[in-house]
Amino acid sequence: MAYTVLRGGLVLDIRAGSAEPADILIEDDTIREVGPPGGPVPDGTREISAARRLVHPGLVNAHTHSHGNLAKGMGDRWTLELLLTAAPWLGGNRGAEDIQLSAQIGAAEMLLKGCTACYDLFFEWPVPSADGMALVASAYAEIGMRAVIAPMVADRSFYEAIPGLAEALPTALQERVATLRLAPGEATLKAIGAIVRDWQFDREQVRPAVAPTIPHHCSDAFILGCAALAREFDLGLHSHVAESKVQAVAGIRVYGQTQTAHLDRLGVLGPNFTVAHGVWLDDDDMARLGDNGASVAHNPGSNMRLGSGLADTRAMLDARVNLGIGTDGASCSDNQNMYEAMRLASFVSKVQGPDWQNWLSTREAALAATEGSARALGFGDRIGRIAPGYKADLVMLDLDHPNWLPLNDPVNQLVHCEDGTAVESVMVGGRMVVEHRRILTLDLARLRDRATASRDRLLAANADNRRLYDALAPVVGSYCPGLARTPYHVHRYGARAE
Ligand SMILES: [Zn+2]
Repeated sequence: MAYTVLRGGLVLDIRAGSAEPADILIEDDTIREVGPPGGPVPDGTREISAARRLVHPGLVNAHTHSHGNLAKGMGDRWTLELLLTAAPWLGGNRGAEDIQLSAQIGAAEMLLKGCTACYDLFFEWPVPSADGMALVASAYAEIGMRAVIAPMVADRSFYEAIPGLAEALPTALQERVATLRLAPGEATLKAIGAIVRDWQFDREQVRPAVAPTIPHHCSDAFILGCAALAREFDLGLHSHVAESKVQAVAGIRVYGQTQTAHLDRLGVLGPNFTVAHGVWLDDDDMARLGDNGASVAHNPGSNMRLGSGLADTRAMLDARVNLGIGTDGASCSDNQNMYEAMRLASFVSKVQGPDWQNWLSTREAALAATEGSARALGFGDRIGRIAPGYKADLVMLDLDHPNWLPLNDPVNQLVHCEDGTAVESVMVGGRMVVEHRRILTLDLARLRDRATASRDRLLAANADNRRLYDALAPVVGSYCPGLARTPYHVHRYGARAE
């Protein structure tokens, strides 16, 4: 057994809204005791000074995409549907090096910005592979971050999933997008089954999950197949639900009811189910999620960046939905900064009306980004808090940084002032991974050289895919907003009357 003690820091208690002087005794990877400063520790205990530091639980990113990190900043004015149209350009022709590199870049950014665990919806075309999953899992394990990695899968392409879209394309483009068909559902389910059956990694560090990407991009049989795998192997399920209005409208057209009502009818909602975004959930949908103990991964940055809308987190909390916070992928947010995501979660709730009692408090935002996200990841009893029995996933902020001068209120300042620049050191499972603002587990200079080489290679390899995007964007960019423009209640009740 190895003991470590963090001495002399102010330890944040988000629920209490306080930061009191306390020492944290860690045994191996787990917090054993949080006690008064200067208390006795076992012989041979390693001491780490946390003087002039605020110690907070590592932030937990409830929704990201590791493959997005090589595509950061590649676009500007994109709706979700234009982003999906751009997917072959942004993510095409990836090899093993690109898959690993993209995950490493994201993990490095998250750790340097105080995030110690994430839910990664990782995409590989045309089917998820054991090699691809192992590359991502080992990227997290080696850098020392916790992750839940869910292959993001479907059995219908974007063009098959949006009613009327394929028919709106000129014939030549219809033929091109037909080549973007995904593998048959059975092949994908078989591949995931093999991956999770042979999982070689420590599930306390990196574990698999399943992400049927968007409900109506999946046949019912396919969604049920994903849920069966989740039951058999005790996995999380994660899906983009009611993200954009186009998605909400398409759900009504396809199912005659909301996506969430349909998922409920299929019987797949439960405590292991995470809805990503949930911008267009109605009260009944939220009640369904709350009653089933499900989570929402709230991604306010992406929801604004893609023009998807402002999610109503107060209504979610009122419906007893477990609320987590995420950054979403770097192709649509574009950073992986959980401090910013918390801050935006707070701000987005505050622009929705003058009834300030309905606004998300900083305490609620901070709890969502720690305990709430942890529960969505399936780590609810082991990460997201500084308490005995929890993993030693800890962030030390420099209280001499201007963000904290003066220290007036630790939770308000964590959510509204901190932007990641005061992160001094980060520990995951008792292992120091960031010290004096430098990452210890990865060579950033080498990462830079590899990223440049990968960018150049992918730029050339995806030139055709870029041209395809340029040809498709005018059609998708006018058809989808048209679909979204009709008032939502006309879609809902019109669809029922038909
Ligand atoms: Zn996403």
